[in-house]
Amino acid sequence: MIQNEEAMKIYRKWEQDGRPTCDHTRFDQELYLGSKTDDHVCLDCGNDFSKKEMQAIIAARSTSTAVGDESAVG
Ligand SMILES: [Zn+2]
Repeated sequence: MIQNEEAMKIYRKWEQDGRPTCDHTRFDQELYLGSKTDDHVCLDCGNDFSKKEMQAIIAARSTSTAVGDESAVG
């Protein structure tokens, strides 16, 4: 889990880096003042997503990687 403050730091750094493209591969539950929020934070860029948005990102990725993995075997 990640504090809202920490997420903001990551986000500011990501903004200073020129907002590079992020695949949002690592999500963590966001805490605000020690309490869970409904949001999840990307640990690479600090953007926060609702549970629904996070699941959509993960679903989109697993669909595309599954196809790639199939052909890469061997
Ligand atoms: Zn990200």
